Amino acid sequence: MHKTLRKYFGYSDFRPLQEDIINDVLNDRDTFVLMPTGGGKSLCYQIPALLKDGITVVVSPLISLMKDQVDSLKENGVDAAYLNSTLKPAESRRIYEELKRGEIKILYVAPERLTMSSTITLLKSLNVSLFAIDESHCISEWGHDFRPEYRRLNFLKKKFPEVPIVALTATATPKVREDTINQLGIKHGKTYIASFDRANLFYRVRAKKDTYDNLLQYLRKKRGESGIIYCQSRKTVDSLTNKLKKDGFNALPYHAGLKDTQRAKNQEMFIKDRVDIIVATIAFGMGIDKPNVRFVIHYDLPKNLESYYQETGRGGRDGLECECVLFFSHGDRYKIEYFIKQKDKKEERDIALKQLSEMVDYCESNICRRKVLLRYFGEETQEDNCGKCDVCLQPRIEVDGTNDAKLLINCIKELDQRFGMNHVIDVLTGSRAKKITDKKHHLLKHFGQGDMYTKATWLDMTRDMVRQDVIKVEGARYPLLKLNSKSEEVLSGKRMVTFTRSEDDECQADYEP
Ligand code: ADP
Ligand code: ZN
Repeated sequence: MHKTLRKYFGYSDFRPLQEDIINDVLNDRDTFVLMPTGGGKSLCYQIPALLKDGITVVVSPLISLMKDQVDSLKENGVDAAYLNSTLKPAESRRIYEELKRGEIKILYVAPERLTMSSTITLLKSLNVSLFAIDESHCISEWGHDFRPEYRRLNFLKKKFPEVPIVALTATATPKVREDTINQLGIKHGKTYIASFDRANLFYRVRAKKDTYDNLLQYLRKKRGESGIIYCQSRKTVDSLTNKLKKDGFNALPYHAGLKDTQRAKNQEMFIKDRVDIIVATIAFGMGIDKPNVRFVIHYDLPKNLESYYQETGRGGRDGLECECVLFFSHGDRYKIEYFIKQKDKKEERDIALKQLSEMVDYCESNICRRKVLLRYFGEETQEDNCGKCDVCLQPRIEVDGTNDAKLLINCIKELDQRFGMNHVIDVLTGSRAKKITDKKHHLLKHFGQGDMYTKATWLDMTRDMVRQDVIKVEGARYPLLKLNSKSEEVLSGKRMVTFTRSEDDECQADYEP
């Protein structure tokens, strides 16, 4: 194993888990490998492929990457080939011949090609010693990149019961994991789960306010370094790229609206360090292996932590530091919510809303970002201070907020629990907006009693109280502030409420639309 690692790949040591996984695969065990992006999954099937008799068939969803993977294997002296729809019939035939002559050790196949009966007949006539299913989470409807053509891979175990399967993914939620294993029929195999902690990534959340100016300032400090800026829409990608170019930055766009050739070219320019910055939608990145990405910026809020983790995971693959900055606003949250509510199926809406609220919690919480991220993947971290996120680096002070909390609770009471966050706070801060005076709420006892804080501060405290469960928000269409038994405990002095604040509180200063 070590000899093969050195000879073909030029590495002297295995990464954590690689050696154990390879041993199991060599012993024909079905294996499920969960490793973060950049963890080194490919070697887990490439080395067994070289050591085993016969052919290893690799299923990979991205036709665009197959050629690169095969080319780089060939450069290392490995006999590899691929079969997909980009090949001309003559080229396919040539590969068929090579396969029959035993001249190919590793064959990459697109899933739709593999499930064709001619391919199955071909494989049946060959000595297939291993199936490797890359990005295997695509088989699960629970995942974020479900692909119908992957679903059909569940026939593999039936058609080729004697051939072991190694399934690999970086998508970790327990549900997807379980579903993938079930679908592929490898329940009796072994599961390997690598740590998802990327120690060289530095996590930061900033308020999405004067965002472009903040971004410029940031990029000026990072001149000459390579980075990715993720946006939610093609339109933002295009306009941001243009602005950056005007401001003297070397940037290119990447999104599904560009012509294939243009997209491939921009990606290549980035990978080969001919351009510093790629401004992209989430269409960019699956399978990208660029070692020296030094920053990953999210200009807009991602839809869930899973995507955020995957996208930031494209940074620092060489092991050196990479900074991950997310610009957060509640406005973005409402935008995403709006789109989620257009979905037809209630189940889909519920899942998406839950995922979004986890994403928002990540941005708002006072807990180490790394801890929140890893917990999402079912992993607990030992230390309380990672030293590499804004929360851990910025000491926070705890303040007694019981009196403020009482004021808010009493105001909600005076309003009969019939109003939302914005309205309650407008009353507290003494707003003379028409909606207040129309209802004669400027005559209430609590009107203006909270004017020692800005509306933004009250919004933060209110959300914090919701998180602490001393008040609640109810109602889907018109969310109203409501009280619970803990609110009463606060009023009667049985329960204290504390708020944590950082010195500059930059992530908190943001208004609701
Ligand atoms: P994944 O598929 O898990 O995202 P890759 O298999 O593409 O990760 O590996 C990520 C990078 O790490 C690649 O550049 C690969 O060559 C490198 N790598 C993998 N295993 C080792 C190892 N044992 N020693 C050094 N580098 C490795
Ligand atoms: Zn931390």
